[in-house]
Amino acid sequence: AWGRVQDDLRNSMSKAKFQSWIASLEYAGVSDGVVSFDVPTAFIGNYVEQHFGDMIVYSFNRNGQEVSRLRFGVNADRQANPSEAQPVKAATAKTSTADFGHDSDPLGLPLDPQMTFDNFVVGKPNELAHAAARRVAEGGPVTFNPLFLYSGVGLGKTHLMHAIANEIRQRQPELNVLYLSAERFMYRFITALRERKMMEFKHLLRSVDVLLVDDVQFMGGKDSTQEEFFHTFNALVDARKQVILSGDRAPGEIKNMEDRMRSRLQCGLVIDLHPTDYELRLGVLQSKVAQQQDIYPDLKVAPGVLEFLAQRITTNVRVLEGALVRLFAHASLVGLDIDMDQTIDCLADILRANDRKVTVEEIQRKVSDYYHIRLSDMLGPKRVRSFARPRQVAMYLSKTMTSRSLPDIGRRFGKRDHTTVMHGVRKIEDLAQTDSQIADDLENLRRALEE
Ligand code: ADP
Ligand code: MG
Repeated sequence: AWGRVQDDLRNSMSKAKFQSWIASLEYAGVSDGVVSFDVPTAFIGNYVEQHFGDMIVYSFNRNGQEVSRLRFGVNADRQANPSEAQPVKAATAKTSTADFGHDSDPLGLPLDPQMTFDNFVVGKPNELAHAAARRVAEGGPVTFNPLFLYSGVGLGKTHLMHAIANEIRQRQPELNVLYLSAERFMYRFITALRERKMMEFKHLLRSVDVLLVDDVQFMGGKDSTQEEFFHTFNALVDARKQVILSGDRAPGEIKNMEDRMRSRLQCGLVIDLHPTDYELRLGVLQSKVAQQQDIYPDLKVAPGVLEFLAQRITTNVRVLEGALVRLFAHASLVGLDIDMDQTIDCLADILRANDRKVTVEEIQRKVSDYYHIRLSDMLGPKRVRSFARPRQVAMYLSKTMTSRSLPDIGRRFGKRDHTTVMHGVRKIEDLAQTDSQIADDLENLRRALEE
C-alpha cells in the first residue's frame, strides 16, 4: 500500500515538497494499525507528522490498509546501525535545535521555530498576556519577574513561551535561554540525584540567564523537586535573571504547592489568557489558512467556511488548528476545494463534540441570572415585559445554540406552543438589528454560555 500512498501524496503536493519531506521517509511496515517510518532526523519526522500526518493516514485507509497512527524512528545512519532507531517525542521535540547542556540528553527542550510572536494572533482574550510576553522578550531592565501565565489548555501559553525564547535567542544570542517543562525538570532532577550529579545540575541551572518552565502545575506534590526548583528560582530572581512560568491555573490555586513558593510566584506579574472569542478564532483561522496555503497553494476556501468554523468550534485554538489541517489534507486528497459540504462532512466528529455543550436548562439559568429574574418567572405564565423579554432571549439562544426543535424548546419553557417559541425567536432576531442593548445582551450571554 505504501506505493499507492506515495502516488497519492505525489499527486497532492508540489514536487519540491514531496522531494523534501516524503522522499526521505523510509517505510518500515505496519503493525497493529501503526505505520512506522525511519527518518534521518527528528525534525523531519515531526514536520511530516504535523503537516502530512492526517493525509498519510487517510490515504493508507483509502488504499485498503487500516491505519490509525504514524510512528517515526530517528535513524541518522540507517546503514550502520538500523537497530538503534529512537522514537520521536511528537508533542515536544519539534526541532533539534542545539541546546546548551551539550550532552546527548540536553537539559532543555527544543524550541518550535513556528511559535513566534509573528505567528501569534492577538485578540481581546490574550492581549495582556501577549503584551507582557513581548515586554519580557524585548529585554531592557527586568520588569516583570517572574512572569506567570496561566489558562486552560490550547489557548497559547506554550506558544507565548516559545515566542519569548525564540525572540531572546535572536536578539541576544549570548544569553543562556533555557526552556523546559516541569516534567522535564523533575526528570532531570531525579536523574541527577541517581547519578550523583547534583552539583553539576545545580550549577547548570544557576548559569541560566532566562529560565522558562512550562506547566508548573505538574510540579505540585513532589517535595524535593519543588525544593530544588524553589532554590533555583530564588537564586535566579535575586540575580535579576528573567524567569517565566506557565500553569493551568493561578499560583494560589495550584494544589500541593508550598506556600512560600506560591507567595514568591505571586510577587511577579500573574496574567491569564481568557477563552477565545469569535473574533480571535476567526483571526487564528485566517492566519492558519495562509500557512496551509504555503503547503497546498492550489486549494481554495469557499466564503463562509471560516466564519462557520469560528462560530461552531469554540473549545480552543488547538482544536481549531487541528480541524483546519485535516480539512486541507482531506481536500487535497480528494482534489476538491474546501466548501461547506466538505467541511461538515470531514469535521462531523469535531462539530458534534462542540455541539452538545450547551443545554436549554443552562441557557434558562444563565439568562434568568443575567436579567435578575427568578427561573420560575421565566418558565411561568406571566407576560409582563420584564419576564417576557428574557424568556424570548432564552428561547432565541436555545434555538441558535442547541439543536433542539421548536416544539421541544416550547415544552421546556413551561409547556408553551412551538408558535410561541417561533414568535419569540423572530422578535429577538429583529430587535438584535435595531436595539443595541439587546445585541450586547446576546453577545454577553453567548460568551458566558460558551465558557
Ligand atoms: P497551551 O500551552 O495553552 O495549552 P498552546 O500554546 O500549545 O496552548 O496552543 C495550542 C496550539 O494553538 C498551538 O499550536 C499554538 O501555536 C496555537 N495557538 C494558540 N494560541 C494562538 C494564537 N493566539 N495565535 C496563533 N496560534 C495560536
Ligand atoms: Mg502548553
